[in-house]
Amino acid sequence: MNAEIVGVGTELLLGQIANTNAQTISQALAGIGVDVFFHCAVGDNLQRMTDVIRRARSRSDVVIITGGLGPTPDDITREAVAAATDRQLHRDPALEKEIRAVFERLERAMPEENLKQADLPEDAVAITPRGTAPGFYVDDRECLIIALPGVPWEMNAMLTEDVVPLLTARAGSKVILTRQVLVVGLGESHTHERIADIVEAQTNPTIAFLAGGGLVRVRITAKAASESVALGLVEPVERAVRERLGRSAVPGRGDSLAESVGNMLRDKGMTVAVAESLTGGLVGAELSAVGGSSDFFLGSVACYSTASKRDVLGVDDSILAGPGPVSEEAAGALAAGAARLFGASLGLAATGVAGPAEQDRVPVGTVYVGACLDGKTEVRLVRGYGDRTNIRAIAVTATLDLGRRLVQNEGEG
Ligand code: ATP
Ligand code: MG
Repeated sequence: MNAEIVGVGTELLLGQIANTNAQTISQALAGIGVDVFFHCAVGDNLQRMTDVIRRARSRSDVVIITGGLGPTPDDITREAVAAATDRQLHRDPALEKEIRAVFERLERAMPEENLKQADLPEDAVAITPRGTAPGFYVDDRECLIIALPGVPWEMNAMLTEDVVPLLTARAGSKVILTRQVLVVGLGESHTHERIADIVEAQTNPTIAFLAGGGLVRVRITAKAASESVALGLVEPVERAVRERLGRSAVPGRGDSLAESVGNMLRDKGMTVAVAESLTGGLVGAELSAVGGSSDFFLGSVACYSTASKRDVLGVDDSILAGPGPVSEEAAGALAAGAARLFGASLGLAATGVAGPAEQDRVPVGTVYVGACLDGKTEVRLVRGYGDRTNIRAIAVTATLDLGRRLVQNEGEG
């Protein structure tokens, strides 16, 4: 069974909102083995929406439309589905009652135009409204067309409670299972080079690459009738991939590098603290985004000014006046300072030039990261590239990864 997701709303096309509903729906469908072949977005225009729905119906088994089910004149998904499937709209008495009841519960007068939300194409089945907009689905020429509201929480409730069970029942349950290997320090093409033959040899699982923010995600995805069969397909390939990538593969199942680092620290009963210059708190934000991070994350200092590096983190004046605040020496002293200040087993630090302009003749993209584990300090020079945001993202990854390598070495040392 394959599906197409249609986002409706001119605001999507104008870039005013991101089509996060498409992502949510894709994730839910992957979980039940429904292949998503197309995403598209269309504005609030009857002719174009009708064309898009017709095309989607002709090439997909399931079409999920999100948005345009509200009460205002620009909400025309009902009309477009009716037009695309050559059906009339009729007012559904049960839905009309339900919508009136919603307003009574809210103790609000119901604007007459809300009743249009009780209109359905002939033979459509209503999906109970969570807010005021009902969803619906209709079978048309070998295709199941489903319309859901645009408001994410309403969409999501119908997706998980109505649509997923409906599709599972129709598709016969299949599982799609993905394992992810995070790779730091190799780059996308080198990562690919190392495992190219494994990638070529596979059809189930398939292997895909996603690069960004200084790391590469290698995703190994299998499709099978049950979870245990899918695992049996994925696990040997994951082991082979990890072996080829060696130290560059981050151990563990973490979804982010911070989560993997956090898991390693927790397992060893260790804690971490961070001194952040160019990252201004981003490393701390990543660590604290991990559920249960209070087990290992003690704190982070955004020591942006030179004075704060000296006064808060205890970096020596001779370093700040000599090699300077963006230097190997400063990164090492900041990492040691963070560990000392918070009493953490691992201190991490990042200092560098994020741009747009160079700083004291240090070029944009120069980043030093430091890590100090039980008094032993290591520093690395990293060359960031791209804009300020990208350089800072690379710095965050490099900082966490240096810590990861130190902790990992110690475990094996
Ligand atoms: P309502 O009953 O609230 O009018 P609706 O079905 O008409 O719902 P829209 O008017 O298209 O939905 O969208 C309502 C809001 O939902 C949008 O302003 C936007 O914030 C959010 N939204 C709509 N479509 C999407 C989408 N594809 N991804 C994420 N958010 C969306
Ligand atoms: Mg609307």
